[in-house]
Amino acid sequence: MIVLQLGPMATIPKSVQDLIEALERLPGIGPKTAQRLTYYLLHAPKEEAQALSSAALNMKEKTIICSICFNIAESNPCPICNDSTRDRSIIAIVEDPLDVLALEKANFKSLYHVLHGVISPLENIGPDQLHIKELLPRLKDGSVKEVILATNPTMEGEATAMYIQRLLSPLGVKVTRIARGLPVGGDLEYADETTLSRALEGRKEY
Ligand SMILES: [Zn+2]
Repeated sequence: MIVLQLGPMATIPKSVQDLIEALERLPGIGPKTAQRLTYYLLHAPKEEAQALSSAALNMKEKTIICSICFNIAESNPCPICNDSTRDRSIIAIVEDPLDVLALEKANFKSLYHVLHGVISPLENIGPDQLHIKELLPRLKDGSVKEVILATNPTMEGEATAMYIQRLLSPLGVKVTRIARGLPVGGDLEYADETTLSRALEGRKEY
């Protein structure tokens, strides 16, 4: 068992400090949480630490991006694009793979298009850095009847929705925007299922 000397003269071993710093770089993890997780792992069986690190590596090695919808998957096309039971006449455009998860939980049974971000002039992210133009070939054969703009109701999400709406308007495809009901400035991935289902149902022509 490892006993840490945490008196005033004690220093934290470098390997412990390294893990704290690595965890702190993760989103949503502050210094306190990083310390708590590190000390948890310090006392946990070695297998638990091993399982955590190999799960992270395994994920990096196995995941790819679907060449149709740009969702994260382990096969290309992804299982959603390959699923013939889904309504292929509707595509929901979302910012992140986590939004796909949120819409799946809200029982959305059509297809997706994952942008991997939003237009953000402040962060120097323009339409070309996102998977926006890759949407156009998907609409070519006329089988898609509706595109739902399901970006977050933030300023950047709205600007991105507006950009895509303008891009698609010459194509004559119906473009809808998920209804408010979602908190302004909020994130799709944090919305509860009911709110998200309602927002989907209340979508309007955009
Ligand atoms: Zn896909």
